[in-house]
Amino acid sequence: MKITEPARQIDVIHKTDVLVVGSGPGGLAAAIAAARAGVCVTLVERFGCFGGNITVVGVEGFAWYRHEKTVEAGGIGREFEERARDMGAAVPESQSLSYELDSEGFKVVADLLVAEAGIHPMLHRQFVAPIMEGDAITGIITESKAGREAILARRVIDATGDADVAHRAGAPTNKTPVEEMQAASVMFHLAGINKQRFLAAVRDDPQTYADWAVGEWEIETSGKEDSMFSPFLRKPFERAIKEGLIPAHLVTIGGTWGAVHDTGEMTYMNLVQLDGCDGTDPDSLTRFEIEGRAQVMQAIKALRAYAPGCEAARLRNFGMSVGIRDTRKIDAVYNLTEDHMRHQGRFDDSIGIYPEFIDGYGVLILPTTGRYVQIPYRALLPQKVKNLLVAGRAIGGDRIAHAGTRNMSCCAVVGQGAGVAAALSVKSGLGLSELPIAVLQAELGRQGVRVF
Ligand SMILES: Cc1cc2nc3c(=O)[nH]c(=O)nc-3n(C[C@H](O)[C@H](O)[C@H](O)COP(=O)(O)OP(=O)(O)OC[C@H]3O[C@@H](n4cnc5c(N)ncnc54)[C@H](O)[C@@H]3O)c2cc1C
Repeated sequence: MKITEPARQIDVIHKTDVLVVGSGPGGLAAAIAAARAGVCVTLVERFGCFGGNITVVGVEGFAWYRHEKTVEAGGIGREFEERARDMGAAVPESQSLSYELDSEGFKVVADLLVAEAGIHPMLHRQFVAPIMEGDAITGIITESKAGREAILARRVIDATGDADVAHRAGAPTNKTPVEEMQAASVMFHLAGINKQRFLAAVRDDPQTYADWAVGEWEIETSGKEDSMFSPFLRKPFERAIKEGLIPAHLVTIGGTWGAVHDTGEMTYMNLVQLDGCDGTDPDSLTRFEIEGRAQVMQAIKALRAYAPGCEAARLRNFGMSVGIRDTRKIDAVYNLTEDHMRHQGRFDDSIGIYPEFIDGYGVLILPTTGRYVQIPYRALLPQKVKNLLVAGRAIGGDRIAHAGTRNMSCCAVVGQGAGVAAALSVKSGLGLSELPIAVLQAELGRQGVRVF
């Protein structure tokens, strides 16, 4: 059965040069970069904080791939880490030369970055529909406690992670079949950990990336990862199943812990892996939010019983939302491929480099050698819709390309490229696909991004 929504008039509440929808690592970087390139920028976000998966889901491992020889773009992504460190919202990360962001503290870091850049903040507004003139997007309609409202913009950046704007504007997108999607996770943070005891046990029985391959899980590495330390936890859950403490079907519980704090908190617990969750289907999201929370409580039971230092562990909090890794990607003007990710793809229209870091679809390759890929501007350009760019994990690429580009610091590289491109397009009056690449690269260079 269907009903017809009556046509209605909507107030235009705001006009801007560049409108960024979604404020994760992609959208936040895009908004800051566009503002720094000298145009008026508005950042729309459906929740009450900026930061996307960092703050909403509790994903704190921003650059856990970084080792001595890793070569990176720098730019706003690096600034996220350094700013968080300087504001007491990051701690050294356990397996890398990076900082683990504090998912709560980063909310304030993001507020400050937005304010300093002079970005117009619009929280608590969900994008629901594009405003189109022919094949050009000219704004969006949002839904909120205030009802439906219109925002007009000269350029729009879709940083929703799910390509919501591109999809609804009519740009071609694709989605991995749900049974093959990367798992979703309900993330959580603990209190009541005995830090010394926990870390002593980790030292006594250090886990490696090779340990990620257990039972039905297979992991392809390049070999060099196999003996490297990983903050991986699986044994307590295997034992809990064996001894009947938690249900036998929960074989997918296992994964990484983040940081253990002097206060007895252990954060970024990435242990509950939920197969079959479609992040674009609210019924699926409902089911897996509830299932994920139940599995977290089972995981805590197992930790209390079998992980030294966790005897008095208590749930501190869940992420505000289930964490989604894999949904729609645009079919871009040019799509990145597995071959580019594995063999240092090079592009004349590079907007930034990204180290050879692949994490997903059963592949883990760490950038320990200085190899890197360039990200082509065309992968941000959707087909069929003018005035629109995509930033973050929804850019064009195949699965293994996505296993690299989905990572937060790559989303920030892409975001910065999108933000600068949108700003230059507004200032020059040229279409997004007509921008002189050398000018785009020069402004990115001025903003501290390594492009080649
Ligand atoms: C459990 C989990 C663990 C992960 N671990 C790591 C890790 O350790 N390291 C790493 O680098 N990456 C990790 N990732 C991947 C990474 O977090 C994401 O790929 C990345 O955050 C994507 O960035 P983004 O900016 O594209 O989107 P997001 O971070 O998803 O941000 C999108 C933003 O858009 C907003 N939004 C969405 N739709 C709308 C709408 N219709 N209207 C308004 N706003 C909207 C959302 O609320 C959100 O704030 C992990 C992901 C998950 C789920």
